Amino acid sequence: MNEKYNAFNTLAVHAGSEPDPLTGAHVAPVYRTSTFVMKDMDTAIKAGYGDVDGLYAYTRYDNPTVNAVERKIAALEGAELCAVTASGMCAITTSLLSVLHAGDHMIAGDTVYGGTNEFVKNMLPYFGVETTTINTTCDNVENIRTAMKPNTKVVYIETPCNPTLGITDIARAAEIAHEGGALLFVDSTFATPYLQNPLALGADVVIHSVSKYLNGHGDMIGGAVCGSKEIVGHIKHYTLKFLGGIMCPGDAASLSKGMKTLPLRMDKHCSNAMKIARFLDRHEMVEKVLYPGLETHPGHDIAIRQMRGFGAMMSFNVKGGFEAAKMLMDKVELISLATSLGNVDSLVQHSASMSHATLKKEEREALGIADGQVRFSVGIEDPDDLIRDLDQALNYVKKTLNL
Ligand code: PLP
Repeated sequence: MNEKYNAFNTLAVHAGSEPDPLTGAHVAPVYRTSTFVMKDMDTAIKAGYGDVDGLYAYTRYDNPTVNAVERKIAALEGAELCAVTASGMCAITTSLLSVLHAGDHMIAGDTVYGGTNEFVKNMLPYFGVETTTINTTCDNVENIRTAMKPNTKVVYIETPCNPTLGITDIARAAEIAHEGGALLFVDSTFATPYLQNPLALGADVVIHSVSKYLNGHGDMIGGAVCGSKEIVGHIKHYTLKFLGGIMCPGDAASLSKGMKTLPLRMDKHCSNAMKIARFLDRHEMVEKVLYPGLETHPGHDIAIRQMRGFGAMMSFNVKGGFEAAKMLMDKVELISLATSLGNVDSLVQHSASMSHATLKKEEREALGIADGQVRFSVGIEDPDDLIRDLDQALNYVKKTLNL
């Protein structure tokens, strides 16, 4: 691709989406193959375990369709290299297992996706890795310094975080991690590269669940890890290759297509979310709205500094606790009750019993994941239709529970 055309929208369409060099097909065919026939033994010896640029040996090592979407994501994140994986969890587990060894210590934000929390707190210790979880949002970023140990290898944050939308100052977290000799990993799934580029702020590794906004249409599961050639090269050509959690070429092609409209979708997601957050904030049935776009959100100023928009994820606490939240989620009509997020369609879920069900009640309450809390992934439908649906459901709860 011509390097002078490097605006985000152009890269989203063109990076990694070159015509097929063999046939000129405008949209390159999907390379649905497990293996690649070698021209001769000299080529086979050169291809070896498949980490020679342009020489493909076996799809678990690399595949042209998979490689194409990796180039698109790397271009959008400003990364030297990207490796895509079979799920967001696979991106998280494989990249952490790539740099952490028995005897190492890792610090993680205390509010992260439930699966990440489970892996960090309960699985990494099986491998001899000691882990500490702390609040890293807003001024609490200084907690990282206190938690650092001589053997701390990784500081891991999610910003905005799932499901309470806390914001961590990425540049500050990177400085503190680097002073202590650790790498900073950032799960940037809620933001996408359209709204935030952690590598430019000093992070070493960026992770995405591409099952969410990057694909955007809810029809595949995948993950991505971005960073330097050294770190991500080791993940792709060693850890991922031997742990085996690769993305299938068909999913890589869907992802490439989905990503072409990422900027258009994100603009609409963000403007819808802002309008809906203001509506919920004024509603008598809503106790609290957690959305970084609201001036009252504690991370609002940091979000303005490090993001180009506030995203479309929010959580809100309904008056009447669990019973009210449950009733609301059963009553919405246009909005679907489903876990996951980042789809063009709007989804609600109950974090306490769905995405964060592995946490104990006391742990959830300490993190602000209330029983009456609804997580809302705002889609790209008409915002007034979404407001109408929420309003009828909230008013039904008020009337039925006599609140
Ligand atoms: N990171 C975040 C912030 C998530 O919300 C999720 C899933 O909801 C994951 C990672 C895991 O991604 P996946 O479901 O693609 O494995």
